[in-house]
Amino acid sequence: MRRTFEIEKTCPRTGARAGFITTAHGVVPTPAFMPVGSQASVKALTPDDVRDVGTEILLSNAYHLYLRPGVDVVEQMGGLHRFMGWDGPILTDSGGYQIFSLASLRRVDDEGVVFRSHIDGSEHFLTPEGAVQLQQRLGADIIMVLDECPPYTKEKMSVRRAMERTLRWAEKCVKAHRGRDQQLFGIVQGGVFSDLRRDSVAFLTALGFPGYAIGGLSLGETKSETLAMVEETVAFLPTDKPRYLMGVGSPEDLVENVDRGVDLFDSALPTRTARNGALFAASGRINIHNAGYKGLDQPIDAGCDCYTCQRFSAAYLNHLFKSKELLAYRLATIHNLRFVMRLMERMRQAIVQGGFGEFRREFLENYRTTDEGVRLAQKQRWLERSVGVHDEGDGPEDPGVVA
Ligand SMILES: [Zn+2]
Repeated sequence: MRRTFEIEKTCPRTGARAGFITTAHGVVPTPAFMPVGSQASVKALTPDDVRDVGTEILLSNAYHLYLRPGVDVVEQMGGLHRFMGWDGPILTDSGGYQIFSLASLRRVDDEGVVFRSHIDGSEHFLTPEGAVQLQQRLGADIIMVLDECPPYTKEKMSVRRAMERTLRWAEKCVKAHRGRDQQLFGIVQGGVFSDLRRDSVAFLTALGFPGYAIGGLSLGETKSETLAMVEETVAFLPTDKPRYLMGVGSPEDLVENVDRGVDLFDSALPTRTARNGALFAASGRINIHNAGYKGLDQPIDAGCDCYTCQRFSAAYLNHLFKSKELLAYRLATIHNLRFVMRLMERMRQAIVQGGFGEFRREFLENYRTTDEGVRLAQKQRWLERSVGVHDEGDGPEDPGVVA
């Protein structure tokens, strides 16, 4: 089998590494961040905008596209790349997370899952084999196994049951997977239990995937629990395969998890927070609605090379948000995504040049993060709101309300 992942350099003191994932639509330098386009669109941006901010790979979602417009439509239009006008690499999530959070569940067993659509209440049956076939028909470059993603809980038995079912489903997904152009990644579950994570990795690595995702985190546990679990899971995973941490994407989390050896990320946080007026700057997240920006004739972030910062003042952005002009969402999204992409580029460069430890220390010293208590309360509210009614389809994460 051809090599789809190569490591260019691993930081000797931390686990951080720089590499390349080769896909049918291009080579992705890692560590990499995937903007979220659940409904075949990164909200408020054209594909050219998405490319211009430095995106190398983006994420879409089989659950959403299956329900609307339907996989038949996408297939008739020549596949997902052509349908959405994006010719770079695409990863699709199977929809496991969405089925267990957005849809209303009817039944789960080893055969698959029966759920009701969050859009019109219609009933659907999805098998692990079916999830692979849907993603193959969409034509994504990297596809994911169907996983059972339980909500955050300390109840070990229920986490174990979901983890073991995910493994049985993974085996079925491998058997159903056809063709060499699409890489099928496994998903490690096991909540915040180290032994469950270890057992999950042992089973999945025996099946032999070209990449492994760490799922079921950033769902309401504390940040230190997330980081500890990533660290332990990474230690179990093989070094020569890419590691993808699902649903994580705040700047400080990206730095901390690259430090622990994660190669790939996705999150709707940068784009959702942007639409709320929460913008990233070197000093932390700012709220562009604040009166202080009303007359400020400076870019949002002096160090940013994005279209928005090169062209417009913070005062103009403040005005667009206050007047609810549609341009606000596009300009803010361009800025936040470019901030994240530039962060990934700077981290990669630091790893290759041997200065990642120093880069990490400096970044985290300057970047003011959201208070942990506020963050968890916001996330809880967002998760509760999203059940059953949320149609945005973004992954698990910080809701991005500005404190
Ligand atoms: Zn900018």
